[in-house]
Amino acid sequence: MSPAIILLGQGGMATARQLKGLYPQASIWGLATRVQGADQAYEHFGDTLRALYRADTPIIALCAAGIVIRTLAPELAAKLAEPAVLALAEDGSAVVPLLGGLAGANRLAREIGECLAVAPAITTSGELRFGQCLLDPPAGYALADIEQGKRFVSDLLAGEAVRVEGQAPWLAQAPLALAEDAARVIHVTPNARPAARDELVIHPRSVVAQVREAGAGLAEQIGQQLAEQGLAAASLACSLAPLDIMANPELHAGAQALGVPVRFTPALPAGDALELQVHAQPIAPDALGQRRGRLAVIGLGPGDRTLMAPAVGTELARAQDVLGYETYVRMAGPFRHDQVLHCTDNREELQRARHAFELAAQGRDVVVVSSGDPGVFAMASAVLEALDGASDPAWHGVDLQVLPGISASLATAAWAGAPLGHDFCLISLSDNLKPWEVIEQRLHLAGEADMAMAFYNPISRSRPWQLGRALEILRQHRAAHTPVVLGRDVARPGQRLRVVTLGELQPEMVDMRTMVIVGSSTTRLIERPGQAPWVYTPRWYPAAVPR
Ligand code: SAH
Repeated sequence: MSPAIILLGQGGMATARQLKGLYPQASIWGLATRVQGADQAYEHFGDTLRALYRADTPIIALCAAGIVIRTLAPELAAKLAEPAVLALAEDGSAVVPLLGGLAGANRLAREIGECLAVAPAITTSGELRFGQCLLDPPAGYALADIEQGKRFVSDLLAGEAVRVEGQAPWLAQAPLALAEDAARVIHVTPNARPAARDELVIHPRSVVAQVREAGAGLAEQIGQQLAEQGLAAASLACSLAPLDIMANPELHAGAQALGVPVRFTPALPAGDALELQVHAQPIAPDALGQRRGRLAVIGLGPGDRTLMAPAVGTELARAQDVLGYETYVRMAGPFRHDQVLHCTDNREELQRARHAFELAAQGRDVVVVSSGDPGVFAMASAVLEALDGASDPAWHGVDLQVLPGISASLATAAWAGAPLGHDFCLISLSDNLKPWEVIEQRLHLAGEADMAMAFYNPISRSRPWQLGRALEILRQHRAAHTPVVLGRDVARPGQRLRVVTLGELQPEMVDMRTMVIVGSSTTRLIERPGQAPWVYTPRWYPAAVPR
């Protein structure tokens, strides 16, 4: 995972930029009030650091080691994650690996030390002696058993001689006490070996599971084949499957259970449903075929970040491409420099949806943003319309997700109290995509059904008269004293809430940034001095529908 470089002040920016040269995928996090030019702005140092730690993100904090230790202290006992954590002097004059020796903290410290021309403060005895952590082999290799490994390294530190069976190019430089007849052996092998006191077993990730057909229990089948062939589970590098089973859920569940990625290729040579291929060298999954792209249609909520679901934040952080109406894309930021923004006009929804599929079909992680909820008069339907009947099988292979958000009607209702506390309906007053007659008919029927109503897209410059006509219809079904809630720019700067009656309501009070909620016959008010009254619709209902 790419490290997060954390800045508390502007002073560390030059050093942070140098690190970014070393780790181009890393993101610079800056305290919003003090740091300019960061990839990500954060508000609270402690919460941010702990969240990154919990997400197993390597952390390079440009501040005093003591601050990092105190901040992460509550996380340490839980031991749910242990990413590499390093403290780095703002001016780059010292680098201290604090935590995550087995997650590469010392390796990072060495690399950073070399880049900044300072000696890393390494204190781990095995590292000091051997110039590396024997229990943290490089990418492409996995240690078989950590506990057994710790004992083995203590033995070597005590002076025991060792020999290496198999290819371990990274050990070539290590000052090991090598001897042909040594009792201690480092085995580098894809084969499973029972744990033995005098062996350190390291598995090259050199096995590829070719999956031509995937059904339930794929992980167990792969496990069984590995066992039958005497291979260690940790030797599995990835699954490789043909493009046409990209959307198969069993395939992905199986790979996830085994903790390996799935890669796709246009064609696999003919063979059994499942076959293991053992390579002479570790396999880097990224170099094999392509990955499955993801398209997430997300809802930002009405505006304020606190009303956005955390899952949406995670999705935005993983996105490589972000598509949407410019205002919403801005609302979804800040973004890192490596994230590509595709801002389009609000009306080009279908085109935007197709573009999103094209990018995701190439294996990219794509996010399409909507305000509120993406399924309420927004992009989720446009994306599914684009998919419906699309002939390109690659579009159907994309990992499509819709992540909900708080819709404007719900945010407005909550602010006013509970006007939607009983049965209600949501109606868009825009006749861009449906005939006006249909809207009139629905207003009559909803009025007759005595449901509370929330109106989206109530009015615009190109639709000036429709709201007035809608009010005429409503007044045929509802008393003039019926409460109406007007929420403008709810959860955004300059937000405003008004409560009027249906009799008072004029189209001039409403614009396209307004949510209009019209109560039912049972909707009531509770006066609040100096504020708009509470508006609520009780949960109960009188026996007969009043007409
Ligand atoms: N998907 C969005 C709705 C898009 S339709 C959602 O679920 O909220 C756009 C309409 O939603 C606007 O014309 C306005 O009526 C309403 N709207 C969206 N955001 C709003 C906000 N923050 N405050 C008030 N109304 C809003």
